[in-house]
Amino acid sequence: MSDKPEKFIDENGLRLDGRRIDEIRPMKMEIGVLSRADGSCYLEWGKNKILAAVYGPRELHPRRLQKADSVLIRYRYNMAAFSVEDRIRPGPSRRSTEISKVSREAFEPVVLTHLYPGAVIDVFAEVLQADAGTRTAAINAASMALADAGIPMKGLVSACAVGKVDGQLVLDLNKAEDNFGDADIPMAITSEGEISLIQMDGDVTQEEFKKAIEMCKEGCRQILEIQKETLKNKFTKLDEVEIPEDEEEDVSALVESTLTSADEGEACEDEEVVEEADAEDDSEDVDDVEDVEDDEEAEDEDDVPEEKADEVVEADPSFEDVEEEEDENPEDDEEETV
Ligand code: UDP
Repeated sequence: MSDKPEKFIDENGLRLDGRRIDEIRPMKMEIGVLSRADGSCYLEWGKNKILAAVYGPRELHPRRLQKADSVLIRYRYNMAAFSVEDRIRPGPSRRSTEISKVSREAFEPVVLTHLYPGAVIDVFAEVLQADAGTRTAAINAASMALADAGIPMKGLVSACAVGKVDGQLVLDLNKAEDNFGDADIPMAITSEGEISLIQMDGDVTQEEFKKAIEMCKEGCRQILEIQKETLKNKFTKLDEVEIPEDEEEDVSALVESTLTSADEGEACEDEEVVEEADAEDDSEDVDDVEDVEDDEEAEDEDDVPEEKADEVVEADPSFEDVEEEEDENPEDDEEETV
């Protein structure tokens, strides 16, 4: 690791990489880069390189992990062994488990989880090259991968960090500022301006903390613009695709049916319809008894013997929360008992 620089900000107010204190690193991203994932995004931010992939929503197995009223989001942040200066040990660590947990929570306010009860959405964020700010870069990429997968969301999530060097707050820390600075405050902000992740390492005063939030909001606004632009470009490109004359009719029928199903989806937001749906759900409770009986078969379907399922759950840190949540939620236990 390089040594601590004497000064982080020069007399012209420029940082070691030539940025102003409130300037983010150059960012570019592309969506739909993986053909086998439902949604994906490759993002470069300064020297950070991140690949995010989304699978789902799909039915969650084993069934006992299912949430009756919402989709389960699983988020796995992983740093490739070759992504940093000193090779890191592959596999989950305390750091990656913590980052996965807080990043998953950063998406909870935006994903319309109630639309897919019993299902799971898997988000994978792979850090291919790290240069400070990887958790925020991964959230930006994951947000785009979720949008690319067509997951219904209230809006995108953008993330950035603010830190403190030479007694001044700086936006989007570089490696030296991250390693040797006085504070590091990563944040994720929804497009509605709600903070969905905030962490802090180091010391800042109350005033500085408030200013850091404002700086970060401005940084996230800029990132949101890049995200929106990327989405727009993809759809503009789709518009430009020429359709052979003999296929035009098929395409209009497809567009028609997509729009109709989208309208039906919107109708679900209507309270009355939701209430009706709830009533239906209640009537399905009777089926729950059968479901529990079916569980044995379901476990078979999962290709994992019941006694091994626990091992699988323990082996994957993203499952740990689920276990805890189940403990906190006695209703789930009741279902199991039935
Ligand atoms: N880093 C590293 N080895 C590690 C963890 C982190 O070299 O095991 C580097 C990496 O460049 C990372 C930076 O230190 O981006 C800052 O790490 P931090 O834990 O603050 O998370 P981040 O800022 O990447 O979200």
